[in-house]
Amino acid sequence: ETVLVTGASGFIAAHLCQLLLAEGYRVRGTVRTNAKGDYLKNLFEGKGEFEYVIVEDIAKPGAFEQAVKGVQGIAHTASPFFLNAAKVDDLVKPAVQGTVGVLQSAQKYGDQVKRVVVTSSVAAIMQPGPGPYTLTEDFWNTESPQVLEKEGDAASGPHKYRGSKTLAERAAWEYVKESQPPWDLVVVNPPFAFGPIIHQVSKPEDINTSVATFYAFTHGGKTESDLGTSPGNWADVRDIAQGHLRALIVPEASNRRFILSAGPFTSQEIVDEIHTWKPEVPNVPIGKPGNGKAIASQAVTFSGERASAVLGVTFRSFGECLRDMHESLEKRFP
Ligand code: NDP
Repeated sequence: ETVLVTGASGFIAAHLCQLLLAEGYRVRGTVRTNAKGDYLKNLFEGKGEFEYVIVEDIAKPGAFEQAVKGVQGIAHTASPFFLNAAKVDDLVKPAVQGTVGVLQSAQKYGDQVKRVVVTSSVAAIMQPGPGPYTLTEDFWNTESPQVLEKEGDAASGPHKYRGSKTLAERAAWEYVKESQPPWDLVVVNPPFAFGPIIHQVSKPEDINTSVATFYAFTHGGKTESDLGTSPGNWADVRDIAQGHLRALIVPEASNRRFILSAGPFTSQEIVDEIHTWKPEVPNVPIGKPGNGKAIASQAVTFSGERASAVLGVTFRSFGECLRDMHESLEKRFP
């Protein structure tokens, strides 16, 4: 069977492609440039059947018409993830139009499609703070779309991103309700994705948003004042890829959303872990070693229980995730 992975050049998508190939699926990835496609072709050389097609602009009507032909499953991961966008449309337009565009093309031209998995985010679930409380798939982020409507381009960068993910996921469910396609929809909602990078990143400034958050800790970009809070929830990119794969194939997943979260993390836990490494990483703040769990207990928890129960996803430890992420970054940028 062939799976179409949109935005194959991304951090999460490259892992998903790798996993699908390892499981014996043929993979067709969409990328914006030949250079990104050729990088992936090289990466997956000898690991299975990988091909790529160019989709330069996911927001363009009909962008996926060719890409969906002959595939049985689709994982739509392509969506801009930046927390400093100037304009609402920089994020909302590609997020919403890209998502609806994939679904339209799947219905019109994807005559073999059985299931579409859309990568949403816990950003589409998030509620105004502070914690501690637990959020499940029953919640929707109603705040960010309202903020975008009220404040427009003046809205904060995080609201622009969260709004884009919320509006895109909402549009996906609405599309399915209204258009009654012959395939079913599954949505996955990951939190901060950490773990090793395998996608193309040629300089540190180009590291994807979530991994860049960690890279700052090991490269003098954080101070003592950055500790003491929980920036959010996390999961290992390899477990998130596993969640996508299971979402594509588990029958009971049909028409549901799945939080792919290992739970809250704190900056204190990141620095505590880094300080155990040899050789030592310089310029890493110290904070109050051992205090991370107490800080995390005050945070908002996104529950990964449904993903564990229905999809059978298991979540790696934070330590393993951080070590593997660091190693991959050191190799890339010694
Ligand atoms: P990346 O930035 O690494 O990947 C994003 C992918 O989308 C890239 O392939 C990128 O192409 C493509 N893309 C972005 N904008 C456009 C556009 N306008 N037209 C065509 N392609 C576009 O991000 P991640 O791997 O981190 O994210 C993948 C998905 O997971 C996104 O939907 C994101 O919202 C979601 N997500 C990510 C989380 C995280 O912590 N990383 C957490 C929760 C959800 P190119 O390589 O050419 O830029």
